[in-house]
Amino acid sequence: MANKGQIGVTTENIFPVIKQFLYSDHEIFLRELVANAVDATQKMKALAASGDYKAELGDLKVSIILDEAAKTLKIVDEGIGMTEEEVDKYINQIAFSSAGEFLEKYKDQIGNIIGHFGLGFYSAFMVAKKVTIDTLSWKEGAKAVKWSCDGSPAYEMEASDKADRGTTITLFLDDDSKEYAEKSRIEGLLNKYCKFMPVPIVFGKEQEWKDGKYVDTDKDKIINSVEPLWTKAPSELKDEDYQNFYRTLFPMNEEPLFWIHLNVDYPFNLTGILYFPKLKDRVAVERNKISLYCNQMFVTDHVDNIVPDFMTLLHGVIDSPDIPLNVSRSYLQSDASVKKISTYITKKVADRLESIFKEERAQLEQKWDNLKLFIEYGMLSDEKFCERALKFALLKNTEGKYFSFDEYKEAVKDNQADKDKKLVYLYATKPEDQYAFIQAAKDKGYDVLLMDCELDSHYVNLLEQKLTDTRFARVDSDAVENLIPKEERIKPEMKEDERYDLENLFKAALPQGNDYFVQGENLGADAAPILITQNEFMRRYREMSALGGGMNFYGSMPESYNITVNMEHPTVQKILEGKPVGDVKSDEHKADLKTYADANESLHQIVDLALLANGMLKGKALADFISRSYSILK
Ligand code: ADP
Repeated sequence: MANKGQIGVTTENIFPVIKQFLYSDHEIFLRELVANAVDATQKMKALAASGDYKAELGDLKVSIILDEAAKTLKIVDEGIGMTEEEVDKYINQIAFSSAGEFLEKYKDQIGNIIGHFGLGFYSAFMVAKKVTIDTLSWKEGAKAVKWSCDGSPAYEMEASDKADRGTTITLFLDDDSKEYAEKSRIEGLLNKYCKFMPVPIVFGKEQEWKDGKYVDTDKDKIINSVEPLWTKAPSELKDEDYQNFYRTLFPMNEEPLFWIHLNVDYPFNLTGILYFPKLKDRVAVERNKISLYCNQMFVTDHVDNIVPDFMTLLHGVIDSPDIPLNVSRSYLQSDASVKKISTYITKKVADRLESIFKEERAQLEQKWDNLKLFIEYGMLSDEKFCERALKFALLKNTEGKYFSFDEYKEAVKDNQADKDKKLVYLYATKPEDQYAFIQAAKDKGYDVLLMDCELDSHYVNLLEQKLTDTRFARVDSDAVENLIPKEERIKPEMKEDERYDLENLFKAALPQGNDYFVQGENLGADAAPILITQNEFMRRYREMSALGGGMNFYGSMPESYNITVNMEHPTVQKILEGKPVGDVKSDEHKADLKTYADANESLHQIVDLALLANGMLKGKALADFISRSYSILK
């Protein structure tokens, strides 16, 4: 029956096209061929299940056989095989795929036919100079056929002596694709693409240690797990199973915090397991650890078009035959079924977190510090997620206590409302540096939150929009009396001249290069003589623009500080009493003030103490302060 012919494609030169443009990654040829072999095997099982095939099937497998010396690679299956007509129809007329027809006929038995990859088989020509198909159909009386093609559009078909049912595809590797004749390369590819395929994939033999080296045993080495965890019923699984599976996926990672098992079959089909990893400050490196599968066949580990951006921080597996493959990114993003899937996953993740909040509160608190970055990022980037998260996100105070938003409001509403009935949430970013301010706030009975995460300046802004009648103030943004103003404060009466002198005296003693806004306040004789604070909004915008990368308007401004001088403090009063008098507008007076300030040890001492309390006293100024302090003690 030997016959020759032309493959039924319109272009003469389809192969160069396949080689160069079909897939940018040549290595996926193996995935395509193994997928076809798995498909043919699954179809065979379906025939047996439907009763169309009556004999015993046995344990069907797919074998990959590499001959490193001959530079050939064989993919051998025990599936349905092909008759001569079928080879002609499915292989020679390449644009034609039988998957549709077959599915129509056996759709009840087959939950998992992989083949919708178009030119799958022909991807073999990306790496092979010649390909043969040796196949025997399951159908009674079928004759085995051998098809071969050397990469030109001409093929040959002849009778074959193949005696067992199934198909063997042999690749004669191209000179420029010799890497695929290496065992380790093939092992790597099988591990990447075929690790969870639903039919056992055999590559080589199990080895054992004998006489000082590893030798092959008789036992086939199966490289995949045919029933990965996500295909099982969640009710059958224990925590340990999920933890072990995480370890097989990411052997180098720390234990996950929580996980979620996705399992839906309507209106689309999707299974998978997503893990919440421990996140610290490594957002960038932690991405792209979700692998997308299609009926247990690896497709990609870039799911950024399928799930919202913040979800790419999760780790794990999504398996769905309903995500269109091999299509462009922009198409994926606008595809309606992909949108539905994305919405579904986001909702499920929020549901899971809410149930952890309700049922495993202690666990949530214990793991919150590692989970927080994910939740905050989600809230900042996804409106819907944010609405949900306001119910389960936690706030942590500087004493390590956790609150939900509702709980926190309840806790501070009596003591932390200002004169306009707005709640003021106080927070610290660096408790060590802001210790004195935190202490002052606590002495007043205020609670102080801890906001030490890299996203917190944005997060605080977001919360001010979401929580009604609430604003945030960092503990060191003003004197404690002014943080939550309860009534209009009576400012000390000062004349223009006095104000001028106060400002210039203190500016002379403060480090140069910053902007200072000096004002007198009556804070009581027992309070500190000077407070150095930073305006909440100026500071926040600075931080946010720094996070955003570039230095914009706010970022490029000098640091600016509020200097509150306590007019009731005896040391301040003494300094002011001794100051020179004169015409404030004259240069002479200005110079006098400077000379007076430079020589006044008390002034320098209280300014330095205030700087020290803010962690702003450094270098020479710090050394000067120390020696001045010693000399005062003498
Ligand atoms: P697709 O898999 O998308 O249908 P392919 O070009 O990979 O496209 O394969 C074309 C057709 O050839 C398949 O649909 C199937 O009918 C047949 N085929 C390919 N490989 C095998 C195989 N190993 N066993 C049986 N049939 C096969």
